[in-house]
Amino acid sequence: MPDTTKSPDMFAAACELIPGGVNSPVRAYKSVGIEPRFVDRAKGSHIWDIEGREYVDFVASWGPMILGHAPEAVLDAVRAQLERGTSYGAPTCIEVALAEEIVRIVPSIEQVRMVSSGTEATMSAIRLARGYTGRDRLIKFDGNFHGHSDSLLAAAGSGLLTLGIPSTPGVTKGTAADTIVLPYNDLDAVAAYLEENAEDVAAIIVEPIAGNMGVIPPRDGFLQGLRALCDTYGAVLIFDEVITGFRVALGGAQELYGVTPDLTTLGKIIGGGFPVGAFGGKAEIMEHLAPVGPVYQAGTLSGNPVAMVAGLATIQALSAPGVYAELDRKGKKLADGLCRAAGSAAVHSSCNRVGSMACMFFTHLDVTNWSSASTSDTERYAAYFRGMLDRGFWLAPSQFESTFVSLAHTDAEIDAFIAAAGEVLAEV
Ligand SMILES: *Cc1c(COP(=O)(O)O)cnc(C)c1O
Repeated sequence: MPDTTKSPDMFAAACELIPGGVNSPVRAYKSVGIEPRFVDRAKGSHIWDIEGREYVDFVASWGPMILGHAPEAVLDAVRAQLERGTSYGAPTCIEVALAEEIVRIVPSIEQVRMVSSGTEATMSAIRLARGYTGRDRLIKFDGNFHGHSDSLLAAAGSGLLTLGIPSTPGVTKGTAADTIVLPYNDLDAVAAYLEENAEDVAAIIVEPIAGNMGVIPPRDGFLQGLRALCDTYGAVLIFDEVITGFRVALGGAQELYGVTPDLTTLGKIIGGGFPVGAFGGKAEIMEHLAPVGPVYQAGTLSGNPVAMVAGLATIQALSAPGVYAELDRKGKKLADGLCRAAGSAAVHSSCNRVGSMACMFFTHLDVTNWSSASTSDTERYAAYFRGMLDRGFWLAPSQFESTFVSLAHTDAEIDAFIAAAGEVLAEV
């Protein structure tokens, strides 16, 4: 038995049993040059590793923990549900209550289907868009991430050949060829492709604020332009709001920017820390799903009652007045402080932020797409990450992730974070 009080021992044991020792690759800390620390527990804005070290957590389980860890309202709801059974595989009032909240809150959603992850949500939304339009091709954007289903693991083909190529072994050329990868924030590229291929494109899927190549807001007019192009060419516009839903506004980026897609995918926050995803949109499109329509989609644990009550309790907490103003204030405090610290340390950096999601890129370029994001000095990020970890701040182990502020972070913790960043940036 490995020593369960030591991360290196546990990691060695895990590597024997689980590929790379982890159940999702980024957790292996490969890009920051150290081994992962195993987590013992978390509460509020704090997380503890199995050595007993305490950190202020700015990863928030990659976004879901917007209330902080183990909030009492969610724990109470989950405890009450556990006694009543944890899964039935049959309809419940709870899933209807959560659906009602989502339909009330998210502008584009008239009907919604629950699934168990963001990956499932985007995969299913794309199948639905294809079934609805009778077309095969999908446009996605370079550096946007939509989970790991085959259609979405494509990279831009080279040169004039715009057909996608597999971005991982195991995805067939045929599947990838139906995915067209274009630069984020480049409306002209989308218009040009659609003009040439007017009848072929089933859907455009986009992160309305990119959150998986650092944080990159949409340029003025980009989302509006995608909306107009989809209307012109009869393609389904899908906003992947797995990160931004309930994060940048209660109604997500579509509420913030006033652009209504045809379909929306949700995940992360909607599960209150449990595995949940959802996709929804216009009833006219959603009614193509089985059992009403012909497009098949199903899930044994979909609408799981424990996850549904956790999501409901989270959304109820987020519905209190002033929540998003407070998240925005804290996000601004953190991002402004971090930029000032980088400036004082004369570190080339570029800060992007929307509400409580922020990212400091180690580059002097304005970051608007993957080609600018990828100029970041990732070695420097790794040194910054390690310095912050040593000082008790838990950040994402990659340059290309968001720093998430939650309602549980105090102003004093944000001030301490900025002070620590000032010290670390002066050394890296
Ligand atoms: C995290 C994420 C996904 C995938 O969600 P999983 O629950 O990890 O499958 C999809 N889209 C976006 C934008 C995400 O950030």
